[in-house]
Amino acid sequence: MNKFSEDRQVQPVKFHGYGDSFSTGTAVVVSFDKNARVRRAVRYALILWAIALGGAFIPVAHFLIVPVFGIAGFVILFRTLKTNRTIKAIRGTCPDCGKVQAFEHLGDSEIPREISCAGCMRTLSVREM
Ligand SMILES: [Zn+2]
Repeated sequence: MNKFSEDRQVQPVKFHGYGDSFSTGTAVVVSFDKNARVRRAVRYALILWAIALGGAFIPVAHFLIVPVFGIAGFVILFRTLKTNRTIKAIRGTCPDCGKVQAFEHLGDSEIPREISCAGCMRTLSVREM
């Protein structure tokens, strides 16, 4: 795998809390070129289609497993092909309670997005600066 097809950057973000309060933080943004997008899309689709194929040998359940994972493979294929960049992690301070926290393993996500503070349980809006 060519590791140079993914570009990883840290960019500043704003956390908006309750009312007009906000604080700053950082987000780890990964950008993909065309080759990386195709490779990711095919990899995810093949995983889902392998599950569909394996499910074909399970009696009765194959009526559900095969079509669901078969269609999901195509949906993920085309969605991942369109994904130019994704947010892998967000770090910052809650503007409402002051708790410093890190949100890892966000999957494929974008900014703006909402996250929940582990300290005060309020919903925070993460936006680009
Ligand atoms: Zn908080």
